Amino acid sequence: MKRLVVLGGGESGVGTAILGKLKGYEVFVSDFGMIKETYKQVLIHNEIDWEEGGHSERKILKASVVMKSPGIPDTAPIVNTLNAHEIRVVSEIEFAAMFTDATIVGITGSNGKTTTATLIHALLDDGGLNVALGGNIGKSFAEQVARGTFQNFVLELSSFQLDGIDKFAPHIAVLTNLSPDHLDRYNYQYENYIASKFRITKNQTSDDYFIYDGDDLEIERWLESHPIKAKKLPFSLQKEVKEGAYLKDKKITILIDNKPFTMPIATLGLQGQHNVKNAMAATTVATLLKIRKETIRQSLEHFQGVEHRLEKVLKINNVMYINDSKATNVNATFYALDSMEVPTVWIVGGVDKGNDYSELLPLVNEKVKAIICLGVDNSKIVNSFGNIVDMMVETDSMKDAIQVAYRLAERGDNVLLSPACASFDLFENYEDRGRQFKEAVRNL
Ligand code: ADP
Repeated sequence: MKRLVVLGGGESGVGTAILGKLKGYEVFVSDFGMIKETYKQVLIHNEIDWEEGGHSERKILKASVVMKSPGIPDTAPIVNTLNAHEIRVVSEIEFAAMFTDATIVGITGSNGKTTTATLIHALLDDGGLNVALGGNIGKSFAEQVARGTFQNFVLELSSFQLDGIDKFAPHIAVLTNLSPDHLDRYNYQYENYIASKFRITKNQTSDDYFIYDGDDLEIERWLESHPIKAKKLPFSLQKEVKEGAYLKDKKITILIDNKPFTMPIATLGLQGQHNVKNAMAATTVATLLKIRKETIRQSLEHFQGVEHRLEKVLKINNVMYINDSKATNVNATFYALDSMEVPTVWIVGGVDKGNDYSELLPLVNEKVKAIICLGVDNSKIVNSFGNIVDMMVETDSMKDAIQVAYRLAERGDNVLLSPACASFDLFENYEDRGRQFKEAVRNL
């Protein structure tokens, strides 16, 4: 009997275990840490063997194939041992894709994956396709392959998930954008991180499509020196492309096989330049999958975005409070500030992943009237922006930050939480940070 060992008992691990069992594998799940109670119950219910708090090499080395969860780095000792024994290690995505013939749309990038994947899913679903959303969001891909009969999958793919693929090839791949992130996992080499993102297209053929940000010089440069087989469909805010998507006269234009689709950006449900790009990418996918133009237009108008991504929370005394807690890097915050149309009180800070704030200076100068630092160590923010904003206050709790924001903001202003940093100094994660923001605002 083939033996599947799953390293990591989280969402992708448990999903893979269920799929493996269904496909006749003998399955063993091993987690170095503790497995969440709900996942344990699922494993027990499915009669899947598991362990936690360590790895039993003897049981692991009997594997015919190993699925490594994306959170486990390649440098983990157990991975080295598996490599030394020449045991195949794959990601959930690689494993699950073996068991479905569905059309797969894969979305990767540094920012905008969740927003774009969710939007694509909405367009395809509104268009009447039998489609599931998974990967890095919601239910794992593997579990949905096991349980469903979906004809289409929209998968959000992190670079860690792409690192573990071998033959996986999405029919349509989307690369939303590139900016440095997670470099600690890539030997601090931006090149390695870019290479990892481009793995999404490595197994694509000339029948497949690669949709990407045509304004991104790094992407263009990479494509020049690393030709790909898939048909390239760029999206651009700056230039008219021959095939793909572009902006002209404040309208999104999609041009594929000489058949244009247009839509004014003013009617998009989501505002901001970055969301115009996300909408272009999503519309290109929907057009390739033959969704009717009228349906696409209606879906784009109605889409309200995803929680913690420039989420409008409440207007109090004519001040709009906006939760962009998911902005954990400078690039995401750049687009948040860029989309502000009124004077803004900006809440920023947390765990800095080696941020370079210089690209934010012109925007801060133009849009920000006060900065509220929210972190344990705010020195870098104070040093970067101290000279260009009149008001700067340091806080170390969300409640205080919101109280200060309430005092500083005047009618017509925005209060924006867009931290450009990870949240682990004061919060459990970005969701916790965003929820605390919303709660504090509602309690004002
Ligand atoms: P991801 O899943 O890649 O982290 P999200 O859709 O969750 O992306 O968005 C993360 C952050 O990036 C949010 O603050 C969001 O407003 C911002 N963002 C969304 N789309 C883009 C984009 N195309 N370019 C830059 N930033 C973006």
